[in-house]
Amino acid sequence: MRIVIVGAGIAGLAAARGLRTAGHEVTVLERAPALRDGGYAIVLWSNGTAVLRDLGVPLDGLGRRLDALEVRSARGRPVMTVDTARLERELGAPTMVVPRRTLIARLAEGLPEDTVRFGARVTRLHDDGRTVRAETEDGTEHTGDLLIGADGVNSPVRAALFGAAPGTGARPTGAATWQGLIPAPFDLGSRSRLFLGRHGLVGLHPAGDGMLQWLIDLRLRPGDEAGPERALAELRERYAAYAPPVPALLAALSEKDLELFPHTRRRASLPWGRGRSLLIGDAAHAMPPILAQGAGQALEDVAALAHTLAGATGEDAAAALPAYERARRRRAVLASAAATRGVATAGPRTAFQTETALRGAVALPDRLATWLFGRLVTGVSNRLGR
Ligand SMILES: Cc1cc2nc3c(=O)[nH]c(=O)nc-3n(C[C@H](O)[C@H](O)[C@H](O)COP(=O)(O)OP(=O)(O)OC[C@H]3O[C@@H](n4cnc5c(N)ncnc54)[C@H](O)[C@@H]3O)c2cc1C
Repeated sequence: MRIVIVGAGIAGLAAARGLRTAGHEVTVLERAPALRDGGYAIVLWSNGTAVLRDLGVPLDGLGRRLDALEVRSARGRPVMTVDTARLERELGAPTMVVPRRTLIARLAEGLPEDTVRFGARVTRLHDDGRTVRAETEDGTEHTGDLLIGADGVNSPVRAALFGAAPGTGARPTGAATWQGLIPAPFDLGSRSRLFLGRHGLVGLHPAGDGMLQWLIDLRLRPGDEAGPERALAELRERYAAYAPPVPALLAALSEKDLELFPHTRRRASLPWGRGRSLLIGDAAHAMPPILAQGAGQALEDVAALAHTLAGATGEDAAAALPAYERARRRRAVLASAAATRGVATAGPRTAFQTETALRGAVALPDRLATWLFGRLVTGVSNRLGR
């Protein structure tokens, strides 16, 4: 089958790898001039790393394997610890913190040189029922039996398929993340720490090679997008009373370390394609990052699609979409719902994150917290939940 993929992010490159291995002819069209080589680190739970391994991506040296993820109150009171080393033993794949550029480079390794066409911004699609053609802005057409939109949260492929109908776009949730990847000012070993308070969440993840991934999830306020200078001063003031090592993080940061990502969400229950075109990754189901499952779900899509298309020919392409949607939708909807209802950054639900509320709550025993997270990870996973 000839497959055209739009977008060389995590979803598009993983799909290129998986579908080429399954014997298909693949071309990836990417609007940028080169692979993305910057960016922060992400957490991949066992479902994401299991799919990476299936795709032949070596996990050694990819980032940092986590032994545990500790959740504490803002003042440092233990709330729960998820034993990710135990989850690794039970689920057969690790939880890792992975720099995005390393992951992108590893996914692209081994693809023939002309697989990814850079500077190829797709502007139009034509589906005549027998083939689908992607037209780039210079007028070049790329023809396939199937087209995969892996073009991210604002997906031009989705817009070409469905127009800009109200309610179909990715909507801002009102929350945002300030974050960055910096040389670690302190050593966390192989344990991530999350501090939960009324102002949202501060997260610290060891990312390997002496790097620290930090993040602060908070309510997006007017002026936040004005720039990091003001933001850094405000973050230092707002989170000054958080438990160590948060003050050490704030002291170590400079303006150049800060990037702001407003959260968006697209309802995962919306259509995932039409005719010979289908969507994967954020183009299908962008979700807030709190559950750390956006990229994990993109990898799950790829695994399900490769499974659906195993042995398929060009004739079978039109049947791919319903089978793929049937396989994935329920779990992606669950992941999106859990990510949306996670940490509160404003409103009455923040009352459950105050020091008093967290002091009143019985700390979850580690075994129970680990079991609950294991259920969650397998619940949103086709790969582990099969
Ligand atoms: C702050 C933040 C933290 C996150 N943390 C985590 C985490 O810890 N764990 C996790 O699993 N997920 C996390 N995520 C989510 C994760 O980053 C995304 O779900 C994932 O990157 C989506 O990958 P994608 O390939 O679908 O889209 P993208 O990475 O957006 O890739 C889309 C690609 O398509 C290209 N493109 C777009 N339009 C066109 C066009 N017209 N023609 C050609 N090319 C085009 C773009 O240039 C881009 O390369 C986080 C997200 C954010 C914002």
